[in-house]
Amino acid sequence: MVDDDVKHKTDEIWRETLTPEQFHVLREHGTERPGTSPLNAEKRSGMFRCAGCGQELFSSETKFESGTGWPSFFQPLERAVETTVDRKFGMTRTEVHCARCGGHLGHVFPDGPRPTGLRYCMNGAALGFAPEEPEE
Ligand SMILES: [Zn+2]
Repeated sequence: MVDDDVKHKTDEIWRETLTPEQFHVLREHGTERPGTSPLNAEKRSGMFRCAGCGQELFSSETKFESGTGWPSFFQPLERAVETTVDRKFGMTRTEVHCARCGGHLGHVFPDGPRPTGLRYCMNGAALGFAPEEPEE
């Protein structure tokens, strides 16, 4: 159901398919208020997906409690995300976006846990969660 033209969608089309909060984060590089995402407390096994295009981004196995109020991961799935340097607000930060639709997800910082030492600080609004099916 996901078309391959996601990179070429116009803002108008995104506005129709995303909630205002998702649109603000994904398409306008917004940041949600910390502690507001229900995904902060998500502890089940499963897959975190891009709220824009549905691409799988992070496994629950790489999620950790960072104490920041944003869902945090130490490693994305292979080729799931891309990064660019963001110099807004007088800071140099590394911005993380979905490799497929280009939606803004959050930032990555070099103060995460082992084994990567990275902290992918994500907006919950940019993510969806699909819990693993319980085994019968
Ligand atoms: Zn995406």
